[in-house]
Amino acid sequence: MKNKMFYSILASMFLGIIVGIFYPDQMLSLRWIGTLFINLLKLIVLPLIFSALVSAITSMGGMKRLGSVGIYTTIYVLCSVSIAVLIGLFLLNTFQPGFGIPASFILANATPTDLKPVEFSSFLLTLFPPNIIEAAAKFEIMPIVFFSIVFSIACLYTGESAKPVIAFFVGLRNIFVKMIVWLMYLTPIGLFSLLGSAIAEASLQNRLLDSLKGMLFFIMIFLFGLFLQMAWQFAIIKLITKRNPKDFIRSASGALLTAFATSSSMATLPVTFIVAKEQNINEEVSRFVLPLATTINLAGTAMYEAVSALFFCQILGMHLSLISQVGVFLTAIVAGMGATGIPEGGLVTMLMVLRCVNVPTSAIALLLPFDRILDRFRTMTNVWGDLVCAATVDHFTSRKEKIIESNNVAKINFKEIKSTSRN
Ligand code: ASP
Repeated sequence: MKNKMFYSILASMFLGIIVGIFYPDQMLSLRWIGTLFINLLKLIVLPLIFSALVSAITSMGGMKRLGSVGIYTTIYVLCSVSIAVLIGLFLLNTFQPGFGIPASFILANATPTDLKPVEFSSFLLTLFPPNIIEAAAKFEIMPIVFFSIVFSIACLYTGESAKPVIAFFVGLRNIFVKMIVWLMYLTPIGLFSLLGSAIAEASLQNRLLDSLKGMLFFIMIFLFGLFLQMAWQFAIIKLITKRNPKDFIRSASGALLTAFATSSSMATLPVTFIVAKEQNINEEVSRFVLPLATTINLAGTAMYEAVSALFFCQILGMHLSLISQVGVFLTAIVAGMGATGIPEGGLVTMLMVLRCVNVPTSAIALLLPFDRILDRFRTMTNVWGDLVCAATVDHFTSRKEKIIESNNVAKINFKEIKSTSRN
């Protein structure tokens, strides 16, 4: 994000907060602008994911390179989500914020929620829907990502006759990228409205502070956990990818602020692409890694699911054994990776984790009043993780290519020396 844009985004968010606090009614009447902005982002996301993935995979020049980018991405995502959950479990076990809070908070005050638990088998079935257009209409991202990957691999194997199709998707992607660049000019206005109306709503209902009371310690611990998660990834940027961390943060800030304002890593994806471009991350890599990471690399969400489950157990006076905590660890990883990058997407998959420790699902009602604000922070963490993932995968794949290249050069030189010495 260019400096000018960054400052205008900051100024517009600041203005949104001020207007939201002092003129809440007027601010709420401008809420439609934010909705329009999110609609425009979402409008682009699905075709962008499809065309970006197809053009990236088909341009990688074969399964070998695709395989190595895919493997690096999967390793990164698994490590990042596991570390996030471990940080969360460690903090909750150390500070135990739930003990001392009356169990009636969950048992009596909680109103039943209408969220349905997600079974693992039905979750797997959603990855392979019978009708891909219907899945797209429901904004189900996972099936689209899987379909795009299989479609692209089929294109690679089809050969000559698939070339016009590939060229079509490359053109389509370039058109969407152009549309994103135009859309970015609207970002300050969109964020002004989104943040301002959220503040206005909270201040009108006087809800924010009320709901924060009693839960403050838990919230602080969770936010600290997110901070640690972002911090170790920051270290990766500096120590492993050897990029300038200040520069990386400056570029990423546009995406982070958009994530904060939209509460959706999926809706932020167009902005995340721009950041990757600014950071000179190989486009083939970012076009493959970012849609995939946005879909499965929800480390902030996974941490939230684990800490909430443990928090509820502490409130209910349940002491979880090591084995049960390993169960929480594993389900939180799956639940985090299965949550969609949409606002409060993690709440639905959290039920999987709660079931694993036998906590009544109505406990979620305890989180609802302040979930919206926490969602903004975990979305920021998720988007930050996606960007670091792309930079890391880019680092390792380009290093591997350099090594292969230099080996090839060495082989050629060796052959030349041999043939000249024979002559
Ligand atoms: N809103 C989050 C995201 O889009 C998902 C969640 O934690 O609910 O990344």
